[in-house]
Amino acid sequence: MAKCPVCETEYTPNEVETCSVCGYDLTPYPPVIGGIPSGFLEKEKKRIAAAKRVWQLSQSQVKSAQLMVSHLQSQLDEMTRKIDGFTTTQSRLESQNEAIASQSLSRLESQVEAIASQSLSRLESQNEAIASQSLSRLESQVEAIASQSLSRLESQNEAIASQSQSLSRLESQIEAIASQSQSLSRLESQVEAIASQSQSLSRLESQVEAIASQSNRYHARIAE
Ligand SMILES: [Zn+2]
Repeated sequence: MAKCPVCETEYTPNEVETCSVCGYDLTPYPPVIGGIPSGFLEKEKKRIAAAKRVWQLSQSQVKSAQLMVSHLQSQLDEMTRKIDGFTTTQSRLESQNEAIASQSLSRLESQVEAIASQSLSRLESQNEAIASQSLSRLESQVEAIASQSLSRLESQNEAIASQSQSLSRLESQIEAIASQSQSLSRLESQVEAIASQSQSLSRLESQVEAIASQSNRYHARIAE
């Protein structure tokens, strides 16, 4: 077995042309008459050393990159575990939330129903009380108004009856006065007739006096 001069991977000579790891040319030098010049061999050794340094540098870079990758991978694994934990916690919280929301909703619904039922019955009884009070108040008001109106009508009726009686009394008084006026005019014409008769009487008296005077004078002349 031989080793790759650059990366030291083992290989079987004359079976492979290049290293399976670093790709270095592994074919033997062609046979040269008189041997390989020493200057060429030195140059070749320097080239191999440079390739080996490049290979080792790249290997160390690969190792640090692999270390970084494994570090990142472990971080990724940890993050994945945390995310799984978060997801589990989240689904548990969601189901708890749903349960709490469902319980709260049904509790709120029953509370709302109880409050609505109480308010309704309270409103109904208040309505009944108000209606009953209003009805009895209206009834007593109607009774008071009817009673007042009745007594006012009765007193008005009495006043009208009293005024009617006074009116008929006045009518009979007017009739009596008219009748008395007629009697008075009859009396006046009688008085006038009496006055006229009185004048005729006084005329008769003066005639009687004149006749008596003439008669006296006549008797006296006869006596002479
Ligand atoms: Zn190699």
